[in-house]
Amino acid sequence: MNTKIVKITVCGKVNDEELLEAAEILKGGGLVAFPTETVYGLGANALDEKAAKKIYAAKGRPSDNPLIAHISCMDELPALASEIPDAARRLAMRFWPGPLTMVFKKQSRVPDGTTGGLDTVAVRMPSDPVANRLIRLAGVPVAAPSANTSGRPSPTRAEHVIEDMAGKIEMILDGSEVGIGVESTIVDVSGEIPTLLRPGAVTLEMLRGALGRVDVDPAIEGPMAEGVHPKAPGMKYRHYAPRAEMLLVEGEAARVAAYINKEAKKAAEAGKRVGIICTEESRGLYPVGVLEVIGSRSHEETVAHNLFAVLRELDEKAVDCIFSESFSEDRLGQAIMNRLCKAAGYHIVRV
Ligand code: AMP
Ligand code: MG
Repeated sequence: MNTKIVKITVCGKVNDEELLEAAEILKGGGLVAFPTETVYGLGANALDEKAAKKIYAAKGRPSDNPLIAHISCMDELPALASEIPDAARRLAMRFWPGPLTMVFKKQSRVPDGTTGGLDTVAVRMPSDPVANRLIRLAGVPVAAPSANTSGRPSPTRAEHVIEDMAGKIEMILDGSEVGIGVESTIVDVSGEIPTLLRPGAVTLEMLRGALGRVDVDPAIEGPMAEGVHPKAPGMKYRHYAPRAEMLLVEGEAARVAAYINKEAKKAAEAGKRVGIICTEESRGLYPVGVLEVIGSRSHEETVAHNLFAVLRELDEKAVDCIFSESFSEDRLGQAIMNRLCKAAGYHIVRV
């Protein structure tokens, strides 16, 4: 398939002309990748089972991993969610449009192809002007997982989407770099107690500030034991992963650097190409290896923003092993560490 790439110019306002063809493709059951404020999404009509299934084929995604349906305004929610609890209304008031996904009991019209056979549906209202306007113009809810090949790091730049999706989908909207860089926070509001299923830029602290009690799904805190099923089915898969083996090193900064340098030297002597993920603050501490600066500890937003691009960059540089510094798990750090732990396949040492 020939994939059309359309460069989007946003000068204050979105130019509808540039989005009309993409909206037509979505209405007609085709696939369009588009920028959002979190990562690039791969969109299809969420109410069209055949269209939603094409997403699984393009990504190579396991069919039991449900999709998030995207809406442009609150009026579009009742068509998807059969119950909108009070907690959801409160969260929507505070965080929509924005990087928050909520899981609701679903309306019967939402096909199994979108929800992976679950009786719930995940819904998000993006704030990115291109994403929001595209959904409005399409006139249908848009199912959109991250626009990467399943298992690879999520795409935060149009080039990443082109790498993974060119030839497999009808259109890619190039809106340059996304803002946040990690996927949305997911909260299940379909049960008694709101439960965090995936950490993101709307932090646990922010959710508790809005609602009081919010539980945390155990899948977030570590690798899943055999036979245990996370509530967000996607959390069980190895994810966000670079091609090389990755080790996450926790501890005080100087000890972490000393450990990484010792291991990097050994690996280099064994003929391996070594990648090191460090920060602005620590970049001077590593004499060997391919250094990737992920961001600044004093601005964790920069770490989230660069995280997936750095993992892709290390793939590009064909390193054999990666050593990464780690981060505190407060606030946005919870989302950062969740993605890094998964990228490392929970291969972590404390020094
Ligand atoms: P992605 O859009 O690629 O970031 O993946 C979507 C994530 O949302 C996956 O981890 C899914 O398992 C999760 N998800 C989607 N729908 C539901 C649902 N109804 N209940 C729980 N998790 C969901
Ligand atoms: Mg994804």
